[in-house]
Order: sequence, then C-alpha cells, then structure tokens
Amino acid sequence: MAPPRGKATRRASETASGVSAPGVKGGATAEPSEPAAVPKAARPGARRCGPAGASGSGRKKPQVRARAARAEDQAEGPAAPTADAEPPAVPGHPLPRATARSRATARSARAGRPQSGPPEGPGPGPRAPAPHLGQREEAPGAWKPRAVLEKLRLKRQEISVAAAMVNTLVDHLLRRLNSRESEFKGVDLLRSGSYYERVKISAPNEFDVMFKLEVPRIQLEEYCNSSAHCFVKFKRNPKGSPLDQFLEGGILSASKMLSRFRKIINEEIKNIEDTDVIMQKKKRGSPAVTLLIRKPREISVDVILALECRSSWPASTQRGLPINNWLGGKVKSSLKRQPFYLVPKLAKEGSRFQEETWRLSFSHIEKAILKNHGQSKTCCEIDGVKCCRKECLKLMKYLLEQLKKKFGDQRGLDKFCSYHVKTAFFHVCTQNPHDSQWHYEDLELCFDNCVTYFLQCLKTERLENYFIPDVNLFSRDEINKLSKEFLSKQIEYQQNNGFPVFDEF
Ligand SMILES: [Zn+2]
Repeated sequence: MAPPRGKATRRASETASGVSAPGVKGGATAEPSEPAAVPKAARPGARRCGPAGASGSGRKKPQVRARAARAEDQAEGPAAPTADAEPPAVPGHPLPRATARSRATARSARAGRPQSGPPEGPGPGPRAPAPHLGQREEAPGAWKPRAVLEKLRLKRQEISVAAAMVNTLVDHLLRRLNSRESEFKGVDLLRSGSYYERVKISAPNEFDVMFKLEVPRIQLEEYCNSSAHCFVKFKRNPKGSPLDQFLEGGILSASKMLSRFRKIINEEIKNIEDTDVIMQKKKRGSPAVTLLIRKPREISVDVILALECRSSWPASTQRGLPINNWLGGKVKSSLKRQPFYLVPKLAKEGSRFQEETWRLSFSHIEKAILKNHGQSKTCCEIDGVKCCRKECLKLMKYLLEQLKKKFGDQRGLDKFCSYHVKTAFFHVCTQNPHDSQWHYEDLELCFDNCVTYFLQCLKTERLENYFIPDVNLFSRDEINKLSKEFLSKQIEYQQNNGFPVFDEF
C-alpha cells in the first residue's frame, strides 16, 4: 500500500546539503532560464569553459568532512596540499582597491540600507560608529577581514587534529559495513562537505560524513509537489536484493533503511578498540546517525547515508545550477552528468513526518564548484590570480555562527544554518560571474556585497535552493518572519559597525 501523501513541507538542509527531488528526468544541458533568483539573477548565456569539477568518488582513504552548526559544512581538507591553499594572511596588505564595477555594486548595494540603530536583544554597545557612505569608500578597511581569516586559519589546525580521529572511526565503520553480509555492502565515503571544500571554519568538535551507496534502477516520484522530497521505487522488483526488506508498499522506506543503518553502526562502534564512542539518541526526521567520540576529546560525528542515483537529474532541477555565465555551459553539462544523492531526510506533514521520503542532495556538486570556482581555470592556483570568493564564504559562515553563538537559540536563530549562507553565496557568484569582480584586494567590498545579498533574501523572505529553484529555503513554512527580521537587524548592525561580533568569543 502506498504511503499517504500529505502536504509537503520543505526544510532547509540541516545536515547534508540537501534538497529534494521529484520525478526523475531532467534536462541535462539546456536550461531555459536561470531562476529569477532571489533578488535578481544572472542570465544564461556565457560560455566559458571552466574546469569540470568532477568530485572524486573512488574508494579512497576515508577522510572526513566537518559540519557547521549541525548543518552542512565546515572545514578544511586534511592537510592535503592543494593549489587551493589559504592565501597568506598578509599583514599590512594594501587597502582594498575596488574596481569601478565592484565599487558601483557595493555602492548600490549600500544605497537604501538603513543605518541601523543598536539591535534589539542583549549585546555590547556599538564599538564603532556606523560609517557613512562616503567614509566607507575612503577607509574601507575599518575592520580587519584578514585578521579574522587568520584566526580562522589557526582554528583549522585544530580541526585537522580532530579530523584524524574521525578518519579512524570512519575507516573502521566502512570496513565493517563492507566486510559483513550487510545490506550496505558497497558503501563508500562521499568526499563532500565543508571539510573537503576547505571552507570549514570552526567547530573542530563537529563533523559530518556522508556514506554513499549506489542503488541501481530506481525511480523517483515527487512527494506532493514538494520539488525537494520524493519517494523511491525500483524499476523492477529487486528480488533477492538485500534492500527489499526496506520496501513498504513498493516504496523504499527512508526510516526503515536508516534504522537498519543505525543498528549496524551501533553494533560496530562497540568493536572499536582504543576509542570511546557512543551513539546519540535518534532525532526525529534527521537523516544523521550521530556518534560521540568521548576520549581523548569530545567530537561529535554525524554519519549520513546517501543513496547514489546515476540517472538523469530530476525535472525540478532543470532551472537550477545557474552557472552558465559564471563557469560556463560545458562545465554545467558535465556536472549534470554526475550522479545525485538522496538522503533519508523525512518530509514534514504538519507536526509529523512522512516516514518514506528522501531528499535530494548535491553536496558533491557544491564541492566541485567551490573547488573550481573561477572563470579562469587558474583562479587561485599558484600561478594564477587569487580571488576572494572562498574568503567571502568563510566570513559569511563565521558571521552567522558568531551571531548564533551570541544569541543562542533565541528568536529562532537555530533555524538558520550554514547551508543558507552557502546558497546565498552561490547566488552572489551567479550575479557576479567574472573573476575581476572578486579581486582579492576587494575582499571587504565583495564580502559587503555578500552580506547585502543575504540581507535582501531575509527581507524578501526568498532564498532559492541553488539546485531546485522552486524550493524557497526562506519560506514561512521553514522559518517564521520574526526570526528573519531579527537576524536581518543583527546583520545590519554588524555591517554598519565593522562586524564587532567577529572579535567576540
Ligand atoms: Zn579564485
């Protein structure tokens, strides 16, 4: 019997970069138009041939990906030296020399920005007077983004120490899941997430890892026009397949499969010597199995099972991934030939969950476009020009994290996660596709643009999922208006006062 289909309720991804999907079948290459993205979006057309970012999916030594605020990003690749290394935090770097274009953008972005008074809620008074428009152009370096980034860089050393412990755990789990006669034979690490994207910036005690499992011959059915959640069926009855025990009326039940995955992991962690690991209580509706390493230090690890689907992307993604003008149509086509993933994130039905639903995830694509993020193939490589895209993303994430730290879960700030910031950041990249708009020297202005964009999203209550434009991550179903107003007041205050929150805590 088919499960009941209730009213769809989408949720922002709290763990995996999640999204959800409807029926399979999607345009691979052509997209009619890019999402009339939030405030505004870029138009398709450009054809730059950027590097195709194929994310590695081979079985490699497991490494971890860290998580931001139980959400979906964090950290830094484990010391793997790449061309994408941190820019040297240049002390005494020349003041930003804004290009005419970025200045204009920043100026127009600032125009109309209310000079916020002291924000509501607790908090120290202003540390610096709200700058006037003119002043900002004369002294754009009023706050020190490079010093903030240096602080984050130091944190990453701490992160890689913790990552080594997580790697040991992950390695163990993968070996056991593959060696026994389990339903999860063939499971492998999906090397995506902030840790691999090298943008994990804090929370060295929190990591996310995704375990992918290829599932052949599946068919998706959109859940209640949600665009984001779906039911999974098999094209042919998988007689004898270990997965048939998870079928519920012909539908692969996310909660059943997750329960089994959880049970196996729970058995296995008891066999790990030299490490004290326990499993945390199950959280309803969450796709993650949360483990806690207790010694020698506390580290929490969210393990997320992801089904790998090698069919064409669902129709709901057709207008998504608006990178034509930025990375180019060829890169886009090649990315869309990659598989996509489904995580057992249940759709909400009023106050309860729909137990059989899965949600789309494109975290591997996010990783790919962050890695090869420039129009020039050599952007940020040793011999290339350094841009400030990743720094902007790190600062954005840090801003949200610091505000969440400052205000706790008051006013619904717990509803916001780094995935929101990352999504907004991608939209800003779409709107500003040229490398010349992201000169490293223009970090302050570029960051200011990102912040302004995020504010617009909060105010318009619209943040389109970058892959599924019909999904609004800031809809009222997801986050109430008052929370958005509160966060936008706080961010405005920070923006107008040189981001004092970066120096707190
Ligand atoms: Zn770059």
